[in-house]
Amino acid sequence: MAAYLQRDCPLCGSNGAEAEVSSDRRGEDFPFGELQPYWSGLFREKVFFTYARCGGCGLLYCPTYFTPGQLTQLYADMAPNMDLVPSASLSATQSGYWHALKRTGVAAGDYLEIGPDIGYIVGHAAASGRFGHFWLFEPNGSVHNALARATGGRPHIISTEMNDFSAVPVGSVSVAVMIHVLDHLLDPMATLRAIRITLKPGGVLLIVTHNEKSLLCRATAMRWPPFCLQHPEIYNPDTISLMARTAGFSMVKVERSTNHFPLDFMVHQAAYGLGLKLGKLPLPKLPLGLKLGNIQAIATR
Ligand SMILES: [Zn+2]
Repeated sequence: MAAYLQRDCPLCGSNGAEAEVSSDRRGEDFPFGELQPYWSGLFREKVFFTYARCGGCGLLYCPTYFTPGQLTQLYADMAPNMDLVPSASLSATQSGYWHALKRTGVAAGDYLEIGPDIGYIVGHAAASGRFGHFWLFEPNGSVHNALARATGGRPHIISTEMNDFSAVPVGSVSVAVMIHVLDHLLDPMATLRAIRITLKPGGVLLIVTHNEKSLLCRATAMRWPPFCLQHPEIYNPDTISLMARTAGFSMVKVERSTNHFPLDFMVHQAAYGLGLKLGKLPLPKLPLGLKLGNIQAIATR
């Protein structure tokens, strides 16, 4: 049996957690070599590490999870994120995040994003003319050219680094962004603390994650797509807020966020979540904006 990491709560450090959601065959019962194909989604059967609820702070996390070395190996083989979702829908979803940031009254300064993909929000930020330097940390090297184009020629640094942000001058950033990144991290507190240091006083960090207290999660139980091998923890409005405050952010505002999906994609995803087989039923491709189990938190330094 491969040795997995045994973790205390990544938010509060407590080690008393009670198992809450497991797959029929649990990830922790597989040797690493046999678990790898499930990471890539090659099998229909769903397998993930058991999620447990921390008795200290309420965070839902996997007490047993991949080691950093195993994760490096797994991510190296992985296709880019969300390539299932057509990009017009993804683009509409990401515009919504930019508008949420604008409503906070974005101050002048530098822009930092972790996991910007091809730069959906970077494009809006560059067009706004409010930012000096763009700091973009994107592990997927195949999108770096697209990302550079999204900056529209503004000064930028693009890096594959995901742990060390010390190249960013302290107190220089007015907006930092992490879309579906925090729930992939083994040590999310360390990342939040490191980002906070780069922010100016009054600078904001936008965090988007799944919400394990959403109706969609309750309706689909263990079939809820975010319960998977790629998420070592999953947040809700209370735990994301507590984590940001514990990392030193002063004000944290949490809202449900809107995701745009083509209707046919949504129906097939929902059917999968409920265990139905629709096959190749043709459905219209209307874009739908739904508040579907994601949350956006805006944390202020
Ligand atoms: Zn805890």
